[in-house]
Amino acid sequence: MAATAGLVVSVSPWWRDTPAGSLDSTAATLTAAGRIAGLVAGYLLLVQVLLMSRLGILERWVGTERLVRWHRDVGATLLVAVLAHLALIVVGYARSAGHPVLTQVGLLLRDYEDMVSAFTAAGIIVLLGLTGVRAVRRALPYELWHRLHLASYLVLLLGFGHQFSNGAQLFPPGPARTWWLGMYAAVLAALLVGRVLGPLRFNLRHRLRVADVVAENPETVSIYLTGERLGQVDLLGGQFLRWRFLTRGCWGQSHPFSVSAAANGRWLRITVKVVGTHTRDLRNLDAGTRVWVSGPAGTFTAAHRRTDRALLIAGGSGITPIRAMLEELPPGAALIYRARTPDDVLLHRELDWLAQARQTSIWYVIGSRDDPGPRQLMSAAGLRRLVPDLAERDVYLCGPAGLVAHSVRALRSAGVPRRQIHLATFEL
Ligand SMILES: Cc1cc2nc3c(=O)[nH]c(=O)nc-3n(C[C@H](O)[C@H](O)[C@H](O)COP(=O)(O)OP(=O)(O)OC[C@H]3O[C@@H](n4cnc5c(N)ncnc54)[C@H](O)[C@@H]3O)c2cc1C
Repeated sequence: MAATAGLVVSVSPWWRDTPAGSLDSTAATLTAAGRIAGLVAGYLLLVQVLLMSRLGILERWVGTERLVRWHRDVGATLLVAVLAHLALIVVGYARSAGHPVLTQVGLLLRDYEDMVSAFTAAGIIVLLGLTGVRAVRRALPYELWHRLHLASYLVLLLGFGHQFSNGAQLFPPGPARTWWLGMYAAVLAALLVGRVLGPLRFNLRHRLRVADVVAENPETVSIYLTGERLGQVDLLGGQFLRWRFLTRGCWGQSHPFSVSAAANGRWLRITVKVVGTHTRDLRNLDAGTRVWVSGPAGTFTAAHRRTDRALLIAGGSGITPIRAMLEELPPGAALIYRARTPDDVLLHRELDWLAQARQTSIWYVIGSRDDPGPRQLMSAAGLRRLVPDLAERDVYLCGPAGLVAHSVRALRSAGVPRRQIHLATFEL
C-alpha cells in the first residue's frame, strides 16, 4: 500500500509536466512512455535496495523471508521497466530525429551527460536479472551469487546521475527533484543504519566470541558463544543472525544460523549441520574466536503467533529455531519432529526436558518420507488425529523445502487458516 502510494507520487511529476495534446506523434508517445518507464524503474530500484537494507524495523515487522520474496518479485518488474525505458527512449528519440536506432544509441552515449554510466547500470541489471533465474541461481555457488548481487549498489550509483542530468522531470529544481533526492537520501540512511550502524552497535555492545564447540552427532555441532551484557540482548527464540567468524578461512563469509536456545543472559548457541565447505570449517573453530554478527532478524517467533496454542513441525536441523522458541511459547504446545534415522534427532535430551517443564507433547517421527508410517502421520487425517484442535493453533514449520511444502498442503486441507501458518525454510 505504502509502496504503491510512493510509486504514484514518484511518477506524478510526469503527469503534471505533460500537457494534454503534447503526445501528438508516435515519437512523442514513445518518449513519454519511456520517461514513465524510467521513473518506475528508478523507484523500483530504490525499493529493491530498501528491502535488502536490513533495517531492524523492516526485519522485525515484515520478516526477512517475506522481504526476500518481495525483493525477488520486484526484481523481475524492475528488469522489465529498465528494458522498456531503454527501448522506448532510444526508439522515441530516433524517430523524432529521423536517425536509425543504432546511430541514436551512439549519439546518446556521446552527447548526453552520464549516459555511459546509465547504459552500464542497465547492463548490470540485465545480468542480475539472469542470475535471478532459478536454474542459473542454483548452478552458481551462493557466495558468488551473493557477491554479484552486491553490484546493485553500483547500479544505484551509476543510474543516479542520468536521472538528474537528463530526466525531463527531475532536472529542473522543484518539488519533484526534491522528492526524488529525499528518497535517495532515505534509502541511503536505511542502508547505513541497517548494514553499518546497527551491527556496529550490537557487536560493540556484546563482543561475542566462541566459548565451545560441541559435537551433537557426526554431522552437526553446537557452537556456544559468550559475550558482554548478554542479559540485554534483544533476541527472540526462532530468530536468526548472520554470523561471521573472524578466523582464517571463515572471516570472508557471513552465514545465517538461528539460535538454538532462547537468550538466557549467560551464553548464546547455534546448532549447525555440515552441508558444505563453510559449515565444515565451523567444526574446527577455536574457543576465543571473535565473531561479528548482523541481526537478529526474522518473524518466526512466539511473539508473532495469533493464538495461545501452537503446533511445531520440525525436520532434521530445522529443529534449531523451534527448540529455542519452545522456551517462549505458552505451555501446552505440541511438537512433531521428523528425522530420517534416530541419529538425526538433535538436542534430544533438551527436548525431553522441555516437554516436561513446558507441558509440551512431542512425537518423534522417524523414517524416510516414503515409509507408510511417516506418510500417514504427516497427512491431513494423520495430523488431525495427533492434534485434534489443529485448526485453532498457530503452526510453525521449519525443515527441508519438501517437508514444508507437503505439510502446508496437509495443514490447509485439515482446515488451518493460512495466517496461522509460519514458515522457515533455511533459504533466503
Ligand atoms: C534464516 C536461516 C536460518 C538458518 N539456520 C540454520 C541453523 O540454525 N542451522 C543450520 O545448520 N543451518 C541453518 N541455515 C542454513 C545455513 O545457513 C546453510 O546451511 C549454510 O549457510 C551453508 O553454508 P556452506 O558453505 O556450508 O554450504 P554451501 O554448500 O555453500 O551452501 C548450501 C546452501 O546453503 C545456502 N547458503 C550458503 N551460504 C549462505 C549464506 N551466506 N547466506 C544464506 N544462505 C546460504 C544456499 O542455499 C546454499 O545453496 C539457516 C539458513 C537461513 C536462511
